[in-house]
Amino acid sequence: MEEMKVVLATSNRGKVEEIRRILEPFRFEIIVPEEKLRVEEKGNTFLENALIKAKAYFDRFGLPALADDSGLEVEALGGYPGVFSSRFHSLDFGGIEEVRDSEDEANVRKLLRLMKGEKNRRARFVCWVVLYTGYGGVFGYGECRGTIADSPRGEKGFGYDPVFVPEGFSRTMAEIEPEEKDSISHRGKALRNLIRTLERCRI
Ligand code: IMP
Repeated sequence: MEEMKVVLATSNRGKVEEIRRILEPFRFEIIVPEEKLRVEEKGNTFLENALIKAKAYFDRFGLPALADDSGLEVEALGGYPGVFSSRFHSLDFGGIEEVRDSEDEANVRKLLRLMKGEKNRRARFVCWVVLYTGYGGVFGYGECRGTIADSPRGEKGFGYDPVFVPEGFSRTMAEIEPEEKDSISHRGKALRNLIRTLERCRI
């Protein structure tokens, strides 16, 4: 595959860091624009939202655009926070949580409040990635199953990582090494699936 210049359609620092790391072995020149586009994620699904973001960045920067839309689905909460993962704290569902340190911290606090005393702690991280080239798109999906911990542990990663324990682990996603996270994470799987398709299509 020839080297491809792509613009990253996200301003989430945690995602940027992970996407750069996961794509390191592959032939991409990754551009992270200083200008942050305000894109309204009005889709009902992760895939729709990924496509909306990728198209917006392609239209603005004129380069193939790579977008990630991801989130946490908790079984006992009927799949919430789902597509609302990044702004769960401000959602009517389950009451609004005050932002003190950061939005991530408020999201985690709300999740733990809603899960207090809940026996079914099963959850999964889900990720759709889209590479939109202007004349079409290539997609990749990945998920990572696990459980919700009783309290936050670990300093690595971002978002809900401190309360997510991947299947087969006793440590949270924020306690495992970054490369270990990439090998089992929803984002790692989604990006590797996208690349597999890309290599097959040779676009
Ligand atoms: P998006 O920008 O709408 O895709 O928001 C994704 C949100 O889902 C993030 O802000 C996090 O709250 C959560 N999330 C997605 N991926 C991860 C992850 O790898 N670890 C922890 N939280 C994640």
